[in-house]
Amino acid sequence: MSFTVPSDHQHRPATVIGAGTLGRRIALMLATRGGEVRVYDPAGQQRDAAATYVRENLDAVAATVDGGSPGTVSTTDDLATAVDGAWLVVEAVPEKLDLKTQVFGELDALAPADAILASNSSSYASRLFLDRVTHPERVLNVHFYMPPKQNAVDVMSSGKTDRDVLDFVMATLPEYGVLPFEAKRESTGFIFNRVWAAIKRECLELVAEGVATPQDVDGMFQANTGMKGGPFRMMDQVGLDVVLDIEEHYAAEHPEYPEGPRTLLRDYIDRGRLGVKSGVGFYDDYPQP
Ligand code: NAD
Repeated sequence: MSFTVPSDHQHRPATVIGAGTLGRRIALMLATRGGEVRVYDPAGQQRDAAATYVRENLDAVAATVDGGSPGTVSTTDDLATAVDGAWLVVEAVPEKLDLKTQVFGELDALAPADAILASNSSSYASRLFLDRVTHPERVLNVHFYMPPKQNAVDVMSSGKTDRDVLDFVMATLPEYGVLPFEAKRESTGFIFNRVWAAIKRECLELVAEGVATPQDVDGMFQANTGMKGGPFRMMDQVGLDVVLDIEEHYAAEHPEYPEGPRTLLRDYIDRGRLGVKSGVGFYDDYPQP
């Protein structure tokens, strides 16, 4: 079925579903062109934290975007209000297949007929969220990394996504200071996440085997690549529960993957060490949330 992409996106709100680590960052980027962004999350604390995050960062980030100016970001616990009039809805709820399927069904029913429905899922193809969707031609993966610092974005068809939607998203996202790259076939982990998943898994396995500490691995990574931080620092940023969810999914597709990385992550999570969001993770020098 063909689909008519929005013709007036500059004058319509964009909506983010989920105010967590990524949702608030996606909202930040979508607000860099002076427009309206709405963030929906049932958790009041998350809505407040997202609003604070955007308030503290938007002026500076909008100034780095070509033609940018700070827009407005509001939060709500009402989904229908959140998507009213939206040209783009980006889902960033926890990495659970049932939840994503339910959310896409609700978005398909509530969002405007020409709204594009995108998933920020790190490891699920949007093909898997279509059970309750009547217009799959507008659903796709649009996967952000860690904006405003890591601004590459994977774009991937659900298999039923209209080609015009993919082209429109590829052409439009750069307006908001991010760089889209299209995965040309379905790929769990898209493009860069597959590379990153392999690096993470081997680093976790090194620690699980007792070969090295997280600090040693990061130290060598920095010394040899010139990067700041390292894989363990980056996993702390992402959240170790999210890292585990993602790794569980890869392991389900690849039973040959080692158990050590998942065991190590579960051990940290069981001790409440989720990374930056809990104040401690592989490192313990983060501010208490
Ligand atoms: P998170 O746990 O930090 O945030 C998830 C948010 O969703 C929470 O605020 C929670 O209250 C909210 N939520 C729960 N149920 C909801 C519902 N029904 N409707 C709306 N909101 C709901 O998770 P995150 O790290 O932001 O990850 C979200 C998605 O983004 C996942 O699919 C993840 O794979 C993906 N992602 C994460 C990262 C990362 O670095 N953390 C990077 C890229 C993509």
